[in-house]
Amino acid sequence: CGIVGYVGDNKSLEVLLGGLKRLEYRGYDSAGVAVIDPDGHIETRKRSGKLQVLVDNLESDPIRNGSTGIGHTRWATHGGPTDQNAHPQLGDNGKLALIHNGIIENFWALKEELLAEGETFTSDTDSEVAALLVGREYRETGDLTESLRRVVARLHGAFTLLVMHEEQPGVVVGARRNSPLVIGLGDGENFLGSDVAAFVEFTRRAVAIGQDQIVTIRPDSVVVTDFDGQPVETEEFDIAWDA
Ligand code: GLU
Repeated sequence: CGIVGYVGDNKSLEVLLGGLKRLEYRGYDSAGVAVIDPDGHIETRKRSGKLQVLVDNLESDPIRNGSTGIGHTRWATHGGPTDQNAHPQLGDNGKLALIHNGIIENFWALKEELLAEGETFTSDTDSEVAALLVGREYRETGDLTESLRRVVARLHGAFTLLVMHEEQPGVVVGARRNSPLVIGLGDGENFLGSDVAAFVEFTRRAVAIGQDQIVTIRPDSVVVTDFDGQPVETEEFDIAWDA
């Protein structure tokens, strides 16, 4: 339901939790974050219930902050509002983290295919098929953007997806179809959000992402292509916001 992504300094958790807080108005039943810790491993924490439950949990049992992270508030459509069904969902043996807004309508066929290939599932969500599929493509290509591009070509339905992989610190890749996603431009850091509220505390410079487009953010670059890999023109705009 709410989506935040960050690459930059070693402050992902502050950005993600702050962004999720400002997206709370959209409603949700669970919240979760994943960061790449200083040793280069994905750390995930997710809880059903209010964002404050997650915040309290992170206070009593902290995870190490990182320079790359994604955060999600979930409004369950497939699978009940449990800790396990909360996002991020993991792929590539826990090396890849993915968050998803929307519905993958053909998830059951994809899940059967993955089960037949010997993959195991830890949630009842439609989203986990995307995490496992991107992980499998990544093992083949070593390229996170190309991996997500191959997977979105197979998905039916409405989605915003963000992925990161622990072998690619400083990279978050997003894709959207019939579901919102916007870029926030920083100085040595960049942001993604389901709306500008996700990062308005940190920057007033934003870039819209069109329908069926993929974005790859790094601390010093933002690249947007269509689902065929062709570069697309983007336009920067200023966020008007009275906070
Ligand atoms: N369909 C996904 C799920 O149920 C995502 C729901 C959402 O948009 O928050 O986990």
